[in-house]
Amino acid sequence: MTAAPKRLPRKSGRARRAEDAIIAAAIQIGCRVAVPCDRCGQWLTEPRSVAARRGPQCRRRV
Ligand SMILES: [Zn+2]
Repeated sequence: MTAAPKRLPRKSGRARRAEDAIIAAAIQIGCRVAVPCDRCGQWLTEPRSVAARRGPQCRRRV
């Protein structure tokens, strides 16, 4: 058994893909999802922002 990390580790590709599948499925059945922005942590609900995991402002200044 491994000790729980103090901080959330950076998401692995597999975790990210699982998340993407869940989000896509939720959108497909008409649910609105919110994900925190990768850059600033602000909650995003706009479909394009959710898909990119970044708010419009953070997407602009990469
Ligand atoms: Zn942001």
